[in-house]
Amino acid sequence: MPSDGPLLEVCDVTKTYGGADGAPPVPVLRGVSLRIDAGEAVAILGPSGSGKTTLLNLIGTLDRPDSGSIRLDGRDLGQLDEAALAEVRRRSIGFIFQSHHLLPHLTVLENVLVPTLAGTGRAPADAEGRARTLLDRVGLAPRLDHLPGRLSGGECQRVAVVRALINQPRMLLADEPTGALDRSSAENLSRLLLELNREQGVTLVVVTHSLDLARLLDRTVEVRDGQLA
Ligand code: ADP
Ligand code: MG
Repeated sequence: MPSDGPLLEVCDVTKTYGGADGAPPVPVLRGVSLRIDAGEAVAILGPSGSGKTTLLNLIGTLDRPDSGSIRLDGRDLGQLDEAALAEVRRRSIGFIFQSHHLLPHLTVLENVLVPTLAGTGRAPADAEGRARTLLDRVGLAPRLDHLPGRLSGGECQRVAVVRALINQPRMLLADEPTGALDRSSAENLSRLLLELNREQGVTLVVVTHSLDLARLLDRTVEVRDGQLA
C-alpha cells in the first residue's frame, strides 16, 4: 500500500554490538533519524567503521535496531515477523554490494532471474522478458549466455544491478557499489545508477566513499559519531 508519508522513515534508531560473553559493547548508532521520499537518490557518507553498513542492513531488514523504529511505506518493520520481513525484502528492496556475488556457474541471464525463483522455483512468465530488457538497457544484451568469469568487474556489477531490479523494488540499497571498480568503470556504474533512479523511479540509497558519486545524487547525509550529520 503506498502511503502519503515518506517511503522510508528511520526514527531515533540505536544499535550496539557485543556486550555478551564479556565482550565490551560497541555502540554504533546512537539515535539516527532519516526520512527518504519515494524516488529520491541519497548518498550515505562517513568514515570507515562509522556504522554505514549497519544502518543499511537495518533499512534493508537484514537486522533489527535495539530501539527506535523504521517504517517502510508506512509499515513499521519492528511489528513484522521474520517471514513478513523476508517478503518485504523480496518485493520491495534490491541490494547491491561492493562485490557482485554472482553465482559462477549460472549465466548472466540465469543470475538475474535468481530473485524471481522464490516460492515456485521457476521464473514467472514476464520475468525473463524484463531481464532481457534491463540487460539490454545496461549494455549487456550480447552477454546473456556468458558466465560471470568471462565478464569484467564493471560488467559483473551491472549484472548485479539488474538482478537487484528484477523484482521491481521500490528501493535500491547499495553498499559501496563502486568500491571494487577502476575509475572509469566506477564512473559508468555511478551514472547508470542515477539513470535507473530517474527512469524507473526506484529510490536509491547508496553508501559510498566516492564524492564523485555522492555529488551526482539528490542529497548526502553523513554518519559521524553514531549520528547523522
Ligand atoms: P562502516 O560500514 O561504516 O565501515 P560498519 O557498520 O560495518 O561500518 O561497522 C560499524 C562498527 O561496528 C565497526 O566498529 C565494526 O567493527 C562494528 N561491527 C559491525 N558489525 C559487527 C558485528 N556483527 N559484531 C560486532 N561488531 C560489529
Ligand atoms: Mg561498510
